[in-house]
Amino acid sequence: MEIKVLPLPEEKKKTKYTDESTLSFGRLFTDRMFLVEWKASEGWVDARIQPYAPFVLDPSALVFHYAQEIFEGLKAYKWADGSIALFRPEINAHRFNLSAERLCIPEIPEELFLEGISQLVRLEKDWVPGSEGTSLYIRPAVIAVEPVLGVKPSDHYYFFVIMSPVGAYYAAGFNPVKILVEDTYVRAVPGGTGEAKTGGNYAASLKAAQVAKKKGFDQVLWLDGCDKKYIEEVGSMNMFFVYDDVVVTAPLTGSILKGVTRDSVMKLADTMGFRIEERQIAIDELIADIRAGKVKEAFGSGTAAVITPVGVLSYKDESLTVGNGGVGNLTQKLYDTLTGIQYGKIPDTFGWVRKID
Ligand SMILES: *Cc1c(COP(=O)(O)O)cnc(C)c1O
Repeated sequence: MEIKVLPLPEEKKKTKYTDESTLSFGRLFTDRMFLVEWKASEGWVDARIQPYAPFVLDPSALVFHYAQEIFEGLKAYKWADGSIALFRPEINAHRFNLSAERLCIPEIPEELFLEGISQLVRLEKDWVPGSEGTSLYIRPAVIAVEPVLGVKPSDHYYFFVIMSPVGAYYAAGFNPVKILVEDTYVRAVPGGTGEAKTGGNYAASLKAAQVAKKKGFDQVLWLDGCDKKYIEEVGSMNMFFVYDDVVVTAPLTGSILKGVTRDSVMKLADTMGFRIEERQIAIDELIADIRAGKVKEAFGSGTAAVITPVGVLSYKDESLTVGNGGVGNLTQKLYDTLTGIQYGKIPDTFGWVRKID
């Protein structure tokens, strides 16, 4: 499908940041967006790159009432030579359609997803920040826009991509987080939407996060939705626990998100001499192992922060320090290697990087 590029009038251009160190996450957006519509009678039509602008939607639009929505998250990285790269974007394209299928949203051709993003990044390349740890966050999403209050799949959708220059997550150095193991609320259940990247999962998780914040924790670690017995994931990160030469993570049972970073971490840890175990981890077993000093490191993985070290885990009013509470060796090495590949400082032996020419 041809992607039309609409003119960007001078008055639609935004004021660019002047100091990259002041960039936060997802508040400032670039000049343009990518937009494609799906209509029941025509399929995907009218692909265009246009000035960034608000949508005018009917208050009865389905997304506002029944949350028929999915999204993705990936980044563009500026290399030292000024060139720009994406990291494994084809996995995002594929996962987007898995989410779409679960939410009864029509699949979008993966080439259109990838080509739209590539062209948008190319046009907006001056918006990709260049200092250490910064990047351009890319947010594709689909919303149901048919104006009707009946509960049903929409007959009209917007697929859009917006982009936000984001600052270095660890500008002041790695900061181990404190995690509360959630034993009241659940995020996802078997047969539910836990494996889909859909806004409803996040809406349902706000309450637990708010309670945890009040108690002084950064995020919650979700347990399985049936028995609250097995570890699942953290907010927007998959979780890893490092024993001596073994790295353990929860299996993809359908209620956790299949992270791109999770997959990359497993492949890298394997090359670093660790055995990877994808298995159910009972919270009681994990707590006992942390107490006994067997768990040397714990970290989360996700596109936004790449790797997040976990310093403290708290369960049923007992707070335990993981390892020495600092940043573990493998945690640091994975962070350095993964970001090294993303920023073109380390050879990409896996073929993960997609240059934007
Ligand atoms: C996006 C997301 C992740 C991380 O996935 P990445 O592909 O590594 O960014 C983990 N958990 C949830 C719930 C997510 O939405």
